[in-house]
Amino acid sequence: MSSFRTLDNADLKNKRVLLRVDLNVPMENGRVTDATRIERVVPTITEIADRGGKVILLAHFGRPKGRDPKESLKPVAQALAHIVGRPVAFADDCIGAPAEQAVAAMKPGDILCLENTRFHKEEEKNDPAFVEKLAALGDVYVNDAFSAAHRAHASTEGLGHRLPAFAGRTMQAEIEALSKALEAPKKPVIAVIGGAKVSTKLDLLENLAAKVDALVIGGGMANTFLHAQGVGIGKSLAEKDMADTARRIIARAEQKNCAIILPVDAVVAYHFENNAPAQAYGLDAIPADGMILDLGPQSIERVKAAMDDAATLVWNGPLGAFELKPFDHATVVAARYAAERTKAGKLLSVAGGGDTVAALNAAGVAEQFSYVSTAGGAFLEWLEGKTLPGVEVLRAR
Ligand code: AMP
Repeated sequence: MSSFRTLDNADLKNKRVLLRVDLNVPMENGRVTDATRIERVVPTITEIADRGGKVILLAHFGRPKGRDPKESLKPVAQALAHIVGRPVAFADDCIGAPAEQAVAAMKPGDILCLENTRFHKEEEKNDPAFVEKLAALGDVYVNDAFSAAHRAHASTEGLGHRLPAFAGRTMQAEIEALSKALEAPKKPVIAVIGGAKVSTKLDLLENLAAKVDALVIGGGMANTFLHAQGVGIGKSLAEKDMADTARRIIARAEQKNCAIILPVDAVVAYHFENNAPAQAYGLDAIPADGMILDLGPQSIERVKAAMDDAATLVWNGPLGAFELKPFDHATVVAARYAAERTKAGKLLSVAGGGDTVAALNAAGVAEQFSYVSTAGGAFLEWLEGKTLPGVEVLRAR
């Protein structure tokens, strides 16, 4: 982490601080329905304000094509004010006269939220003239939006080249947790990867197979691997045209001394629905008209044993069709086991990705993991071994 500039290195007093945050929260009828993302940026906002900085919030909301009142950040700024417990002013545009006047009126410690950066198409183009207009509003740039760091947009990357740039506390925590899990981890490292398809997680599987000591493959994507090994998988979800790719990943893992842990048994049902009658079968006996919807009991024991051998765990994707009961069983049991090992100080556990966060919440263990990333796309790109432009620009130069 020493290679990143953090708020520890920043002079904030009386400075206009352009703070990029993730306020892209779910809304219904003008109300925020899940404030997790807002809560995560509060520490950085209050620290900058308390150190005498003028906090100028930059964020995108939704995917507007030009200015669209339905995608305004105004109601989000109100929710933010409520959560921070301080007034939050609002400017109707993120550049130009409305923004300039609102910034000029600020005193040290004030908080101002600028309107959705994506009301300007130049934001996503990282347009230099647009970056200049944003930069003119501030003295310092702080990025606290890891979830947007895989995009090289004006407010996530461009500004970092124009102003002294620092990681906010949430960004810092995320980079530190992710570095501990994959860049400089305590070995052995185990990755648990599930989810529907191999095709969406190809880069991720290839990168992990070269980096970790054991790779557990579960969920629908395991069916493709089983099929590639000649196992009859009945009517299970699978990408049969990816069989060669699956075999290539297995070969790459072997070459790199990474143990691939595939299911040895499976829970099979005949309908993709809640409480569908189901039964566990060995791999040599999967019914031709059945669907694999979860790991079987022996596979769950293998996953737990693999976790016993590991010091670090990275997890993305459910091990079965976890939205349907009882096919959430393997995911819940494995997640609880990882949480127990973490609590016992035996495991550093990092998980992320949309469905994964939902699955860990459903298992009631998200709080007990060492770190849970809500970043979605950025988390996946990091697992793929890609450099994130919004993080790179914060490296000490
Ligand atoms: P992903 O978005 O790639 O992480 O995939 C998550 C989805 O995969 C969830 O909706 C799960 O229900 C689904 N899934 C996991 N395992 C299976 C399976 N064995 N059969 C069908 N769908 C599955």
